[in-house]
Amino acid sequence: MIILVLNAGSSSLKYQIYNMSDESVLAQGRVERIGMEDSILTHEPSGKTEVRQVSEILDHNTAVKKLTDLLIDREHGVILSMKDINAVGHRVVHGGESFKHSVIVTSEVKQEIRKLIDLAPLHNPAAMMGIMAVEANLPDVSQVVVFDTAFHQSMPQETFLYPIPMVLYRRHKIRRYGFHGTSHDYVSRQAAMKLNKPLESLKMVTCHIGNGASCAAILDGKSFDTSMGLTPLEGLMMGTRSGDLDPAIVPFTMDKEELTLNEVNSMLNKHSGLQAISGFSSDMREITDAMKDGDKQAKLAFDMYTYRLRKYIGAYAAGMNGIDVLVFTAGVGENSVMVRQAVCENLSFMGIELDNERNEIRSKEVRLISTDKSRVSVLVVPTNEELIIARDTYQLVRESL
Ligand code: AMP
Repeated sequence: MIILVLNAGSSSLKYQIYNMSDESVLAQGRVERIGMEDSILTHEPSGKTEVRQVSEILDHNTAVKKLTDLLIDREHGVILSMKDINAVGHRVVHGGESFKHSVIVTSEVKQEIRKLIDLAPLHNPAAMMGIMAVEANLPDVSQVVVFDTAFHQSMPQETFLYPIPMVLYRRHKIRRYGFHGTSHDYVSRQAAMKLNKPLESLKMVTCHIGNGASCAAILDGKSFDTSMGLTPLEGLMMGTRSGDLDPAIVPFTMDKEELTLNEVNSMLNKHSGLQAISGFSSDMREITDAMKDGDKQAKLAFDMYTYRLRKYIGAYAAGMNGIDVLVFTAGVGENSVMVRQAVCENLSFMGIELDNERNEIRSKEVRLISTDKSRVSVLVVPTNEELIIARDTYQLVRESL
């Protein structure tokens, strides 16, 4: 079965096409700057030369048309005809309380995703555009939606509710939803497999730290708590997002700086985090490079980032009465030896003992980086959200045949 995975943003569309007989990636690519005159389509077919096209792509519909044309192109294509695509899987950011797992797209599902636009005004409309574009270009193909929030729907009320008037939850569904669910789900399973233990028997904290960052407490194989909330702004310090802060800072800043709500929202999402404290970058590579050159603001940004992550790990260990496994994943988690070391250094009281040599090893494999004596197993697990979307799509479509 051939499956196309789409991840639609408001002005971008990323794709991967899988042959599910061996889960190999036939091609991947992205369309950027959708809606502009100089949109860029980058197509990387496996074993063939990369293609980069600059042209006007005004909407997602045209983006899907262009990328599917390339998929069947004589020179750059990887399949013979559009009929070879058996199903399309979409990443959808917000599934609210309606979606506890991935589903096949029906008119009711589309209606429900539209209803959730209130909760994810930037993300869910883009996903809908992706779904509609596939309907227009590949009308006979089954579509599946995979939600970032679904894995966290197992959280109990005590962790998902905010201590604010209950009427806000009842009327507007204001609560913690959590994101990066496909990643937390996948890496927790991979970690249990590596340790050769049933997932249900392990108390785990998974740290998905990339551009966006969140951690999750995993108990009995299910999400028990997670650091992102109603939106992906809460929790850890991120590249450009603040993460946790005193909510009173919002009205206080609006008053003192004469800012509108939108301006403060933009400040907290786009101009905070590593970017704000370092003053020059949201990228952990540049922060750690500058630290080595003695940049004090970079060092402060790094210390705040790792301290805040360590606090969450401690909080979740308290929430679950200890942990057995700590997992690092995503861009920073998989690559930054320094971040992993700084986070773990002061967790020895919990029985975490990092093996510095193992921590230095660079590899794309799941690997243990704690010592053999460490009471908590610390692992690096490369995440693969597209593969999970492809697997869910494959399974649901097969069951429906
Ligand atoms: P992601 O969102 O998972 O793609 O992660 C992207 C982020 O990972 C980048 O913004 C970088 O900050 C970070 N990153 C990637 N490679 C490295 C590295 N070698 N060292 C530190 N951070 C890295």
